Amino acid sequence: MARDPLHDGHGRRISDLRVSVTDRCNFRCQYCMPAEGLPWLERAEVLSFEETERLVRVMAEMGVETLRLTGGEPLVRRDFPTLAGLLTRIPGLDEVSITTNGFLLERDAAALVAAGIDRFNVSVDSLQRDRFYEQTRRDALPRVLAGLEHLASFPEAHPIKVNAVAIRGFTEQEALPFARFAREHPYEVRFIEYMPLDGDRSWKPDQVLSGAEIHAAIHAVYPLEDAVRDPHATARVHRFADGKGKIGFINPVSEPFCDDCNRLRLTADGRLRTCLFSLNETDLRGPLRAGATDDDLEALIRGAVWAKELKHRVNDPGFVQPARTMSAIGG
Ligand code: SAM
Ligand code: SF4
Repeated sequence: MARDPLHDGHGRRISDLRVSVTDRCNFRCQYCMPAEGLPWLERAEVLSFEETERLVRVMAEMGVETLRLTGGEPLVRRDFPTLAGLLTRIPGLDEVSITTNGFLLERDAAALVAAGIDRFNVSVDSLQRDRFYEQTRRDALPRVLAGLEHLASFPEAHPIKVNAVAIRGFTEQEALPFARFAREHPYEVRFIEYMPLDGDRSWKPDQVLSGAEIHAAIHAVYPLEDAVRDPHATARVHRFADGKGKIGFINPVSEPFCDDCNRLRLTADGRLRTCLFSLNETDLRGPLRAGATDDDLEALIRGAVWAKELKHRVNDPGFVQPARTMSAIGG
């Protein structure tokens, strides 16, 4: 059933949905979760497969075309490939992708490709084992790289993206190794500026290593062509001038891309968030479990989207970090 397209109060059409399928994770990245983890949601608080499918279907009827599954770590959700298969079959979705830390890709890549997942983003912050451990608090680089290689053996999974969070004092040393990695492998490497969504709440503006700084360091050694950024795509993507691979930069702090934001997020416990930095959420699980019809859900979603924030306020004085951190929102 087609419904009217979703628009916010600033004239932006909303067509991209990120769904967090779990708040749990097998890593403890410094920039995301505290070492001891977080108080996890109870099982009954997490949307069931059927509830998730229904909410995504209603939003697809309202013009959502691209879906990204994330978490926490999506692959730790029990029977995740089954959920992925339910969601890829929803009419109207053009692309269903996953963001993962890669730890379980050797186990699940085949099932996820078979379930119809079109795109994979694998997060890797360092190509050096000890530094990877320092950042993720898990000695898992060899296993993540093996997972990535396994994923690359499926032609349907390409193009594969590798994401690294860029943090001053850490990522400077990673820039050239990642540039070489992108030149030698069939992966597009993208650096994401560090955002104030960390579990330890210790983010400081001067810890943000900007995309421009990393670009300059790479360009000096491996010249890059000018960027291409598709409307709604978050990354500025540069080809190496000699044609060997691509590097991207996602610069939400130094160059916010809120003007053409088309995104919406659904947390694992069924709350709709209209911005990563939203201070308000709309509960969809309660009404869903209380017997709301699809039309009732549509009205709730439409109301929340209408009030979508014009822009984030990370660079403004008085910025308030939301109560939920990245892993609990679904990055
Ligand atoms: N566990 C999966 C993973 O790490 O790919 C998916 C969830 S994770 C929250 C999604 C993405 O958010 C990852 O690429 C991660 O590096 C990124 N991320 C987490 N915390 C961040 C922060 N404070 N600033 C910028 N990116 C962050
Ligand atoms: Fe887990 Fe991903 Fe957060 Fe790392 S960034 S702690 S892998 S959710």
